[in-house]
Amino acid sequence: MTVLHYDYAFDLESRAASVVATLRIDAPGDCVSLPMRAGGLEDVLLGGEPIADGSLAGGVLTACGAGWDAGDDVELEAHMLVALETWGDSQVGYSVATDAEGAPFHYLVSWIGGCDRFGPCDAAPDRFATYRFTVTHPAGMVVLCPGRITPGDSQTVCELEQPAPTYSGFGLAADPSWVDVPLGDWGGVAVTLYDMPSVDMAPAFDKGAHARFLAWMEERFGPYPYGDQLRFFAGPTYWSGFEHPGNIALSDTLHTAPSYYAHPLTHVVNHEMAHQWAGDRTTLAGARDFAWKEAMAEYLSFVFEDEELSAEDAQATAQAWKTFALGAQYYPVPEDAPAPPLLDWYQDVYGPGPMILFRQLEALYGRDAVMTALAALIGGGERAARSIDDVRAALEAATGADLAAYFDTWIAGSGAPVWPRFEVTWTQTRTGPLSYAVRQTAPVGQLFGCAFAVAFTRDTQRADAWIDLGPDGVAEVTGSIEPGFHATAAVVDPDATCLAFPAAAAAAAPRRAPWRAR
Ligand SMILES: [Zn+2]
Repeated sequence: MTVLHYDYAFDLESRAASVVATLRIDAPGDCVSLPMRAGGLEDVLLGGEPIADGSLAGGVLTACGAGWDAGDDVELEAHMLVALETWGDSQVGYSVATDAEGAPFHYLVSWIGGCDRFGPCDAAPDRFATYRFTVTHPAGMVVLCPGRITPGDSQTVCELEQPAPTYSGFGLAADPSWVDVPLGDWGGVAVTLYDMPSVDMAPAFDKGAHARFLAWMEERFGPYPYGDQLRFFAGPTYWSGFEHPGNIALSDTLHTAPSYYAHPLTHVVNHEMAHQWAGDRTTLAGARDFAWKEAMAEYLSFVFEDEELSAEDAQATAQAWKTFALGAQYYPVPEDAPAPPLLDWYQDVYGPGPMILFRQLEALYGRDAVMTALAALIGGGERAARSIDDVRAALEAATGADLAAYFDTWIAGSGAPVWPRFEVTWTQTRTGPLSYAVRQTAPVGQLFGCAFAVAFTRDTQRADAWIDLGPDGVAEVTGSIEPGFHATAAVVDPDATCLAFPAAAAAAAPRRAPWRAR
């Protein structure tokens, strides 16, 4: 059974909700089941008729009716009450925060596997559906949800015709403080920023760079997937940004708060735009595949920085990834038992993910090969669900390399990862040739493959040795270069092409939550 469409009604203030879900039946029978965690369930109907039998147990709603054949479409209707509660301190769930003007910011967020918080919903990450939201609200409220919006004094309707996954598609936001700032027509897409007077994001918003990024993405991965409208809204969000289809959330502090990124607003806006292809139109096969969508959004924002905006900005991004990686408590694909909740581990993918999946491989095989793999994964115009194994297969096809050991070593594991450390020793007579040895000193018994520079320096002079460990790692690499000066220091990986750290680095680093805005 597949849910083709959710027709969802929600009252912002009373939190009363109803859904009519259109189900495509794939096997004959007379009962259907959907995940359902919302409370206050009443009036369950099938095909407009009261159900003959049903149950709500263990977070699953089962409804039985007159029976149907494979290929039939059946409408399941239910009425319920959405709780004003979130998962931990995140905004996953339904919440009302205070915006920069002191007014209420209403936000309903599914995230991965979470749409059943709001009613019967197939919360599996790989499902796509279309949506219609009918939101009842006080006068003066601006409601933003995916799709084409028809506003009204007390009711606003959003209709999304293009199929989208539930994690991002099943969501809405409302706030009375938004002021719409038209950002122009970006190649046939009308773009609007919903700003607030006290936030004043519009002057910092580099619309030229983002219009170019949209065209850059379309050139590589096909047309913008969500119609002819693209909205950004600023609000008091938990995360820096969230990629609702055509309806992107941005933290109202992105342009003012300190960041490891050189230009956090620009970086995050492009990251969320990249998700329209990588995450939304092409989505996750399962929750354990979360790393690739963040890694891809980060990497595409980085490549655009490097090629179109500023190589210094791109370098700051790559250095930020290494900083984020240092305190990671989980591998990008955690294999801990029992499986940790996504909210506990997702934050550890933002640095290691783009480094391992893409940056390190571009250092080994070139950027063209990595971009070819990305086009195979998210281009082509068809919606799809991809796993980490699909990402490995596409990278292997594009590079010609066997990456099985590379993925085993870097991507999957249990406990806190220990990224490799390298010791550099060298000999040099005055300004003559310099002979070096680079040895992996930790972790013991596991070799890590990647490629990076070792910069031999004296004051402002620098001469690099390129250390290519291949995808499987090498215990020691030796070689020689001719710096033309007498080197006094060696810097491991000055350009952040590998999660390689110097042997003498401090042991403990703080864990970071790179995507949290507050
Ligand atoms: Zn993201």
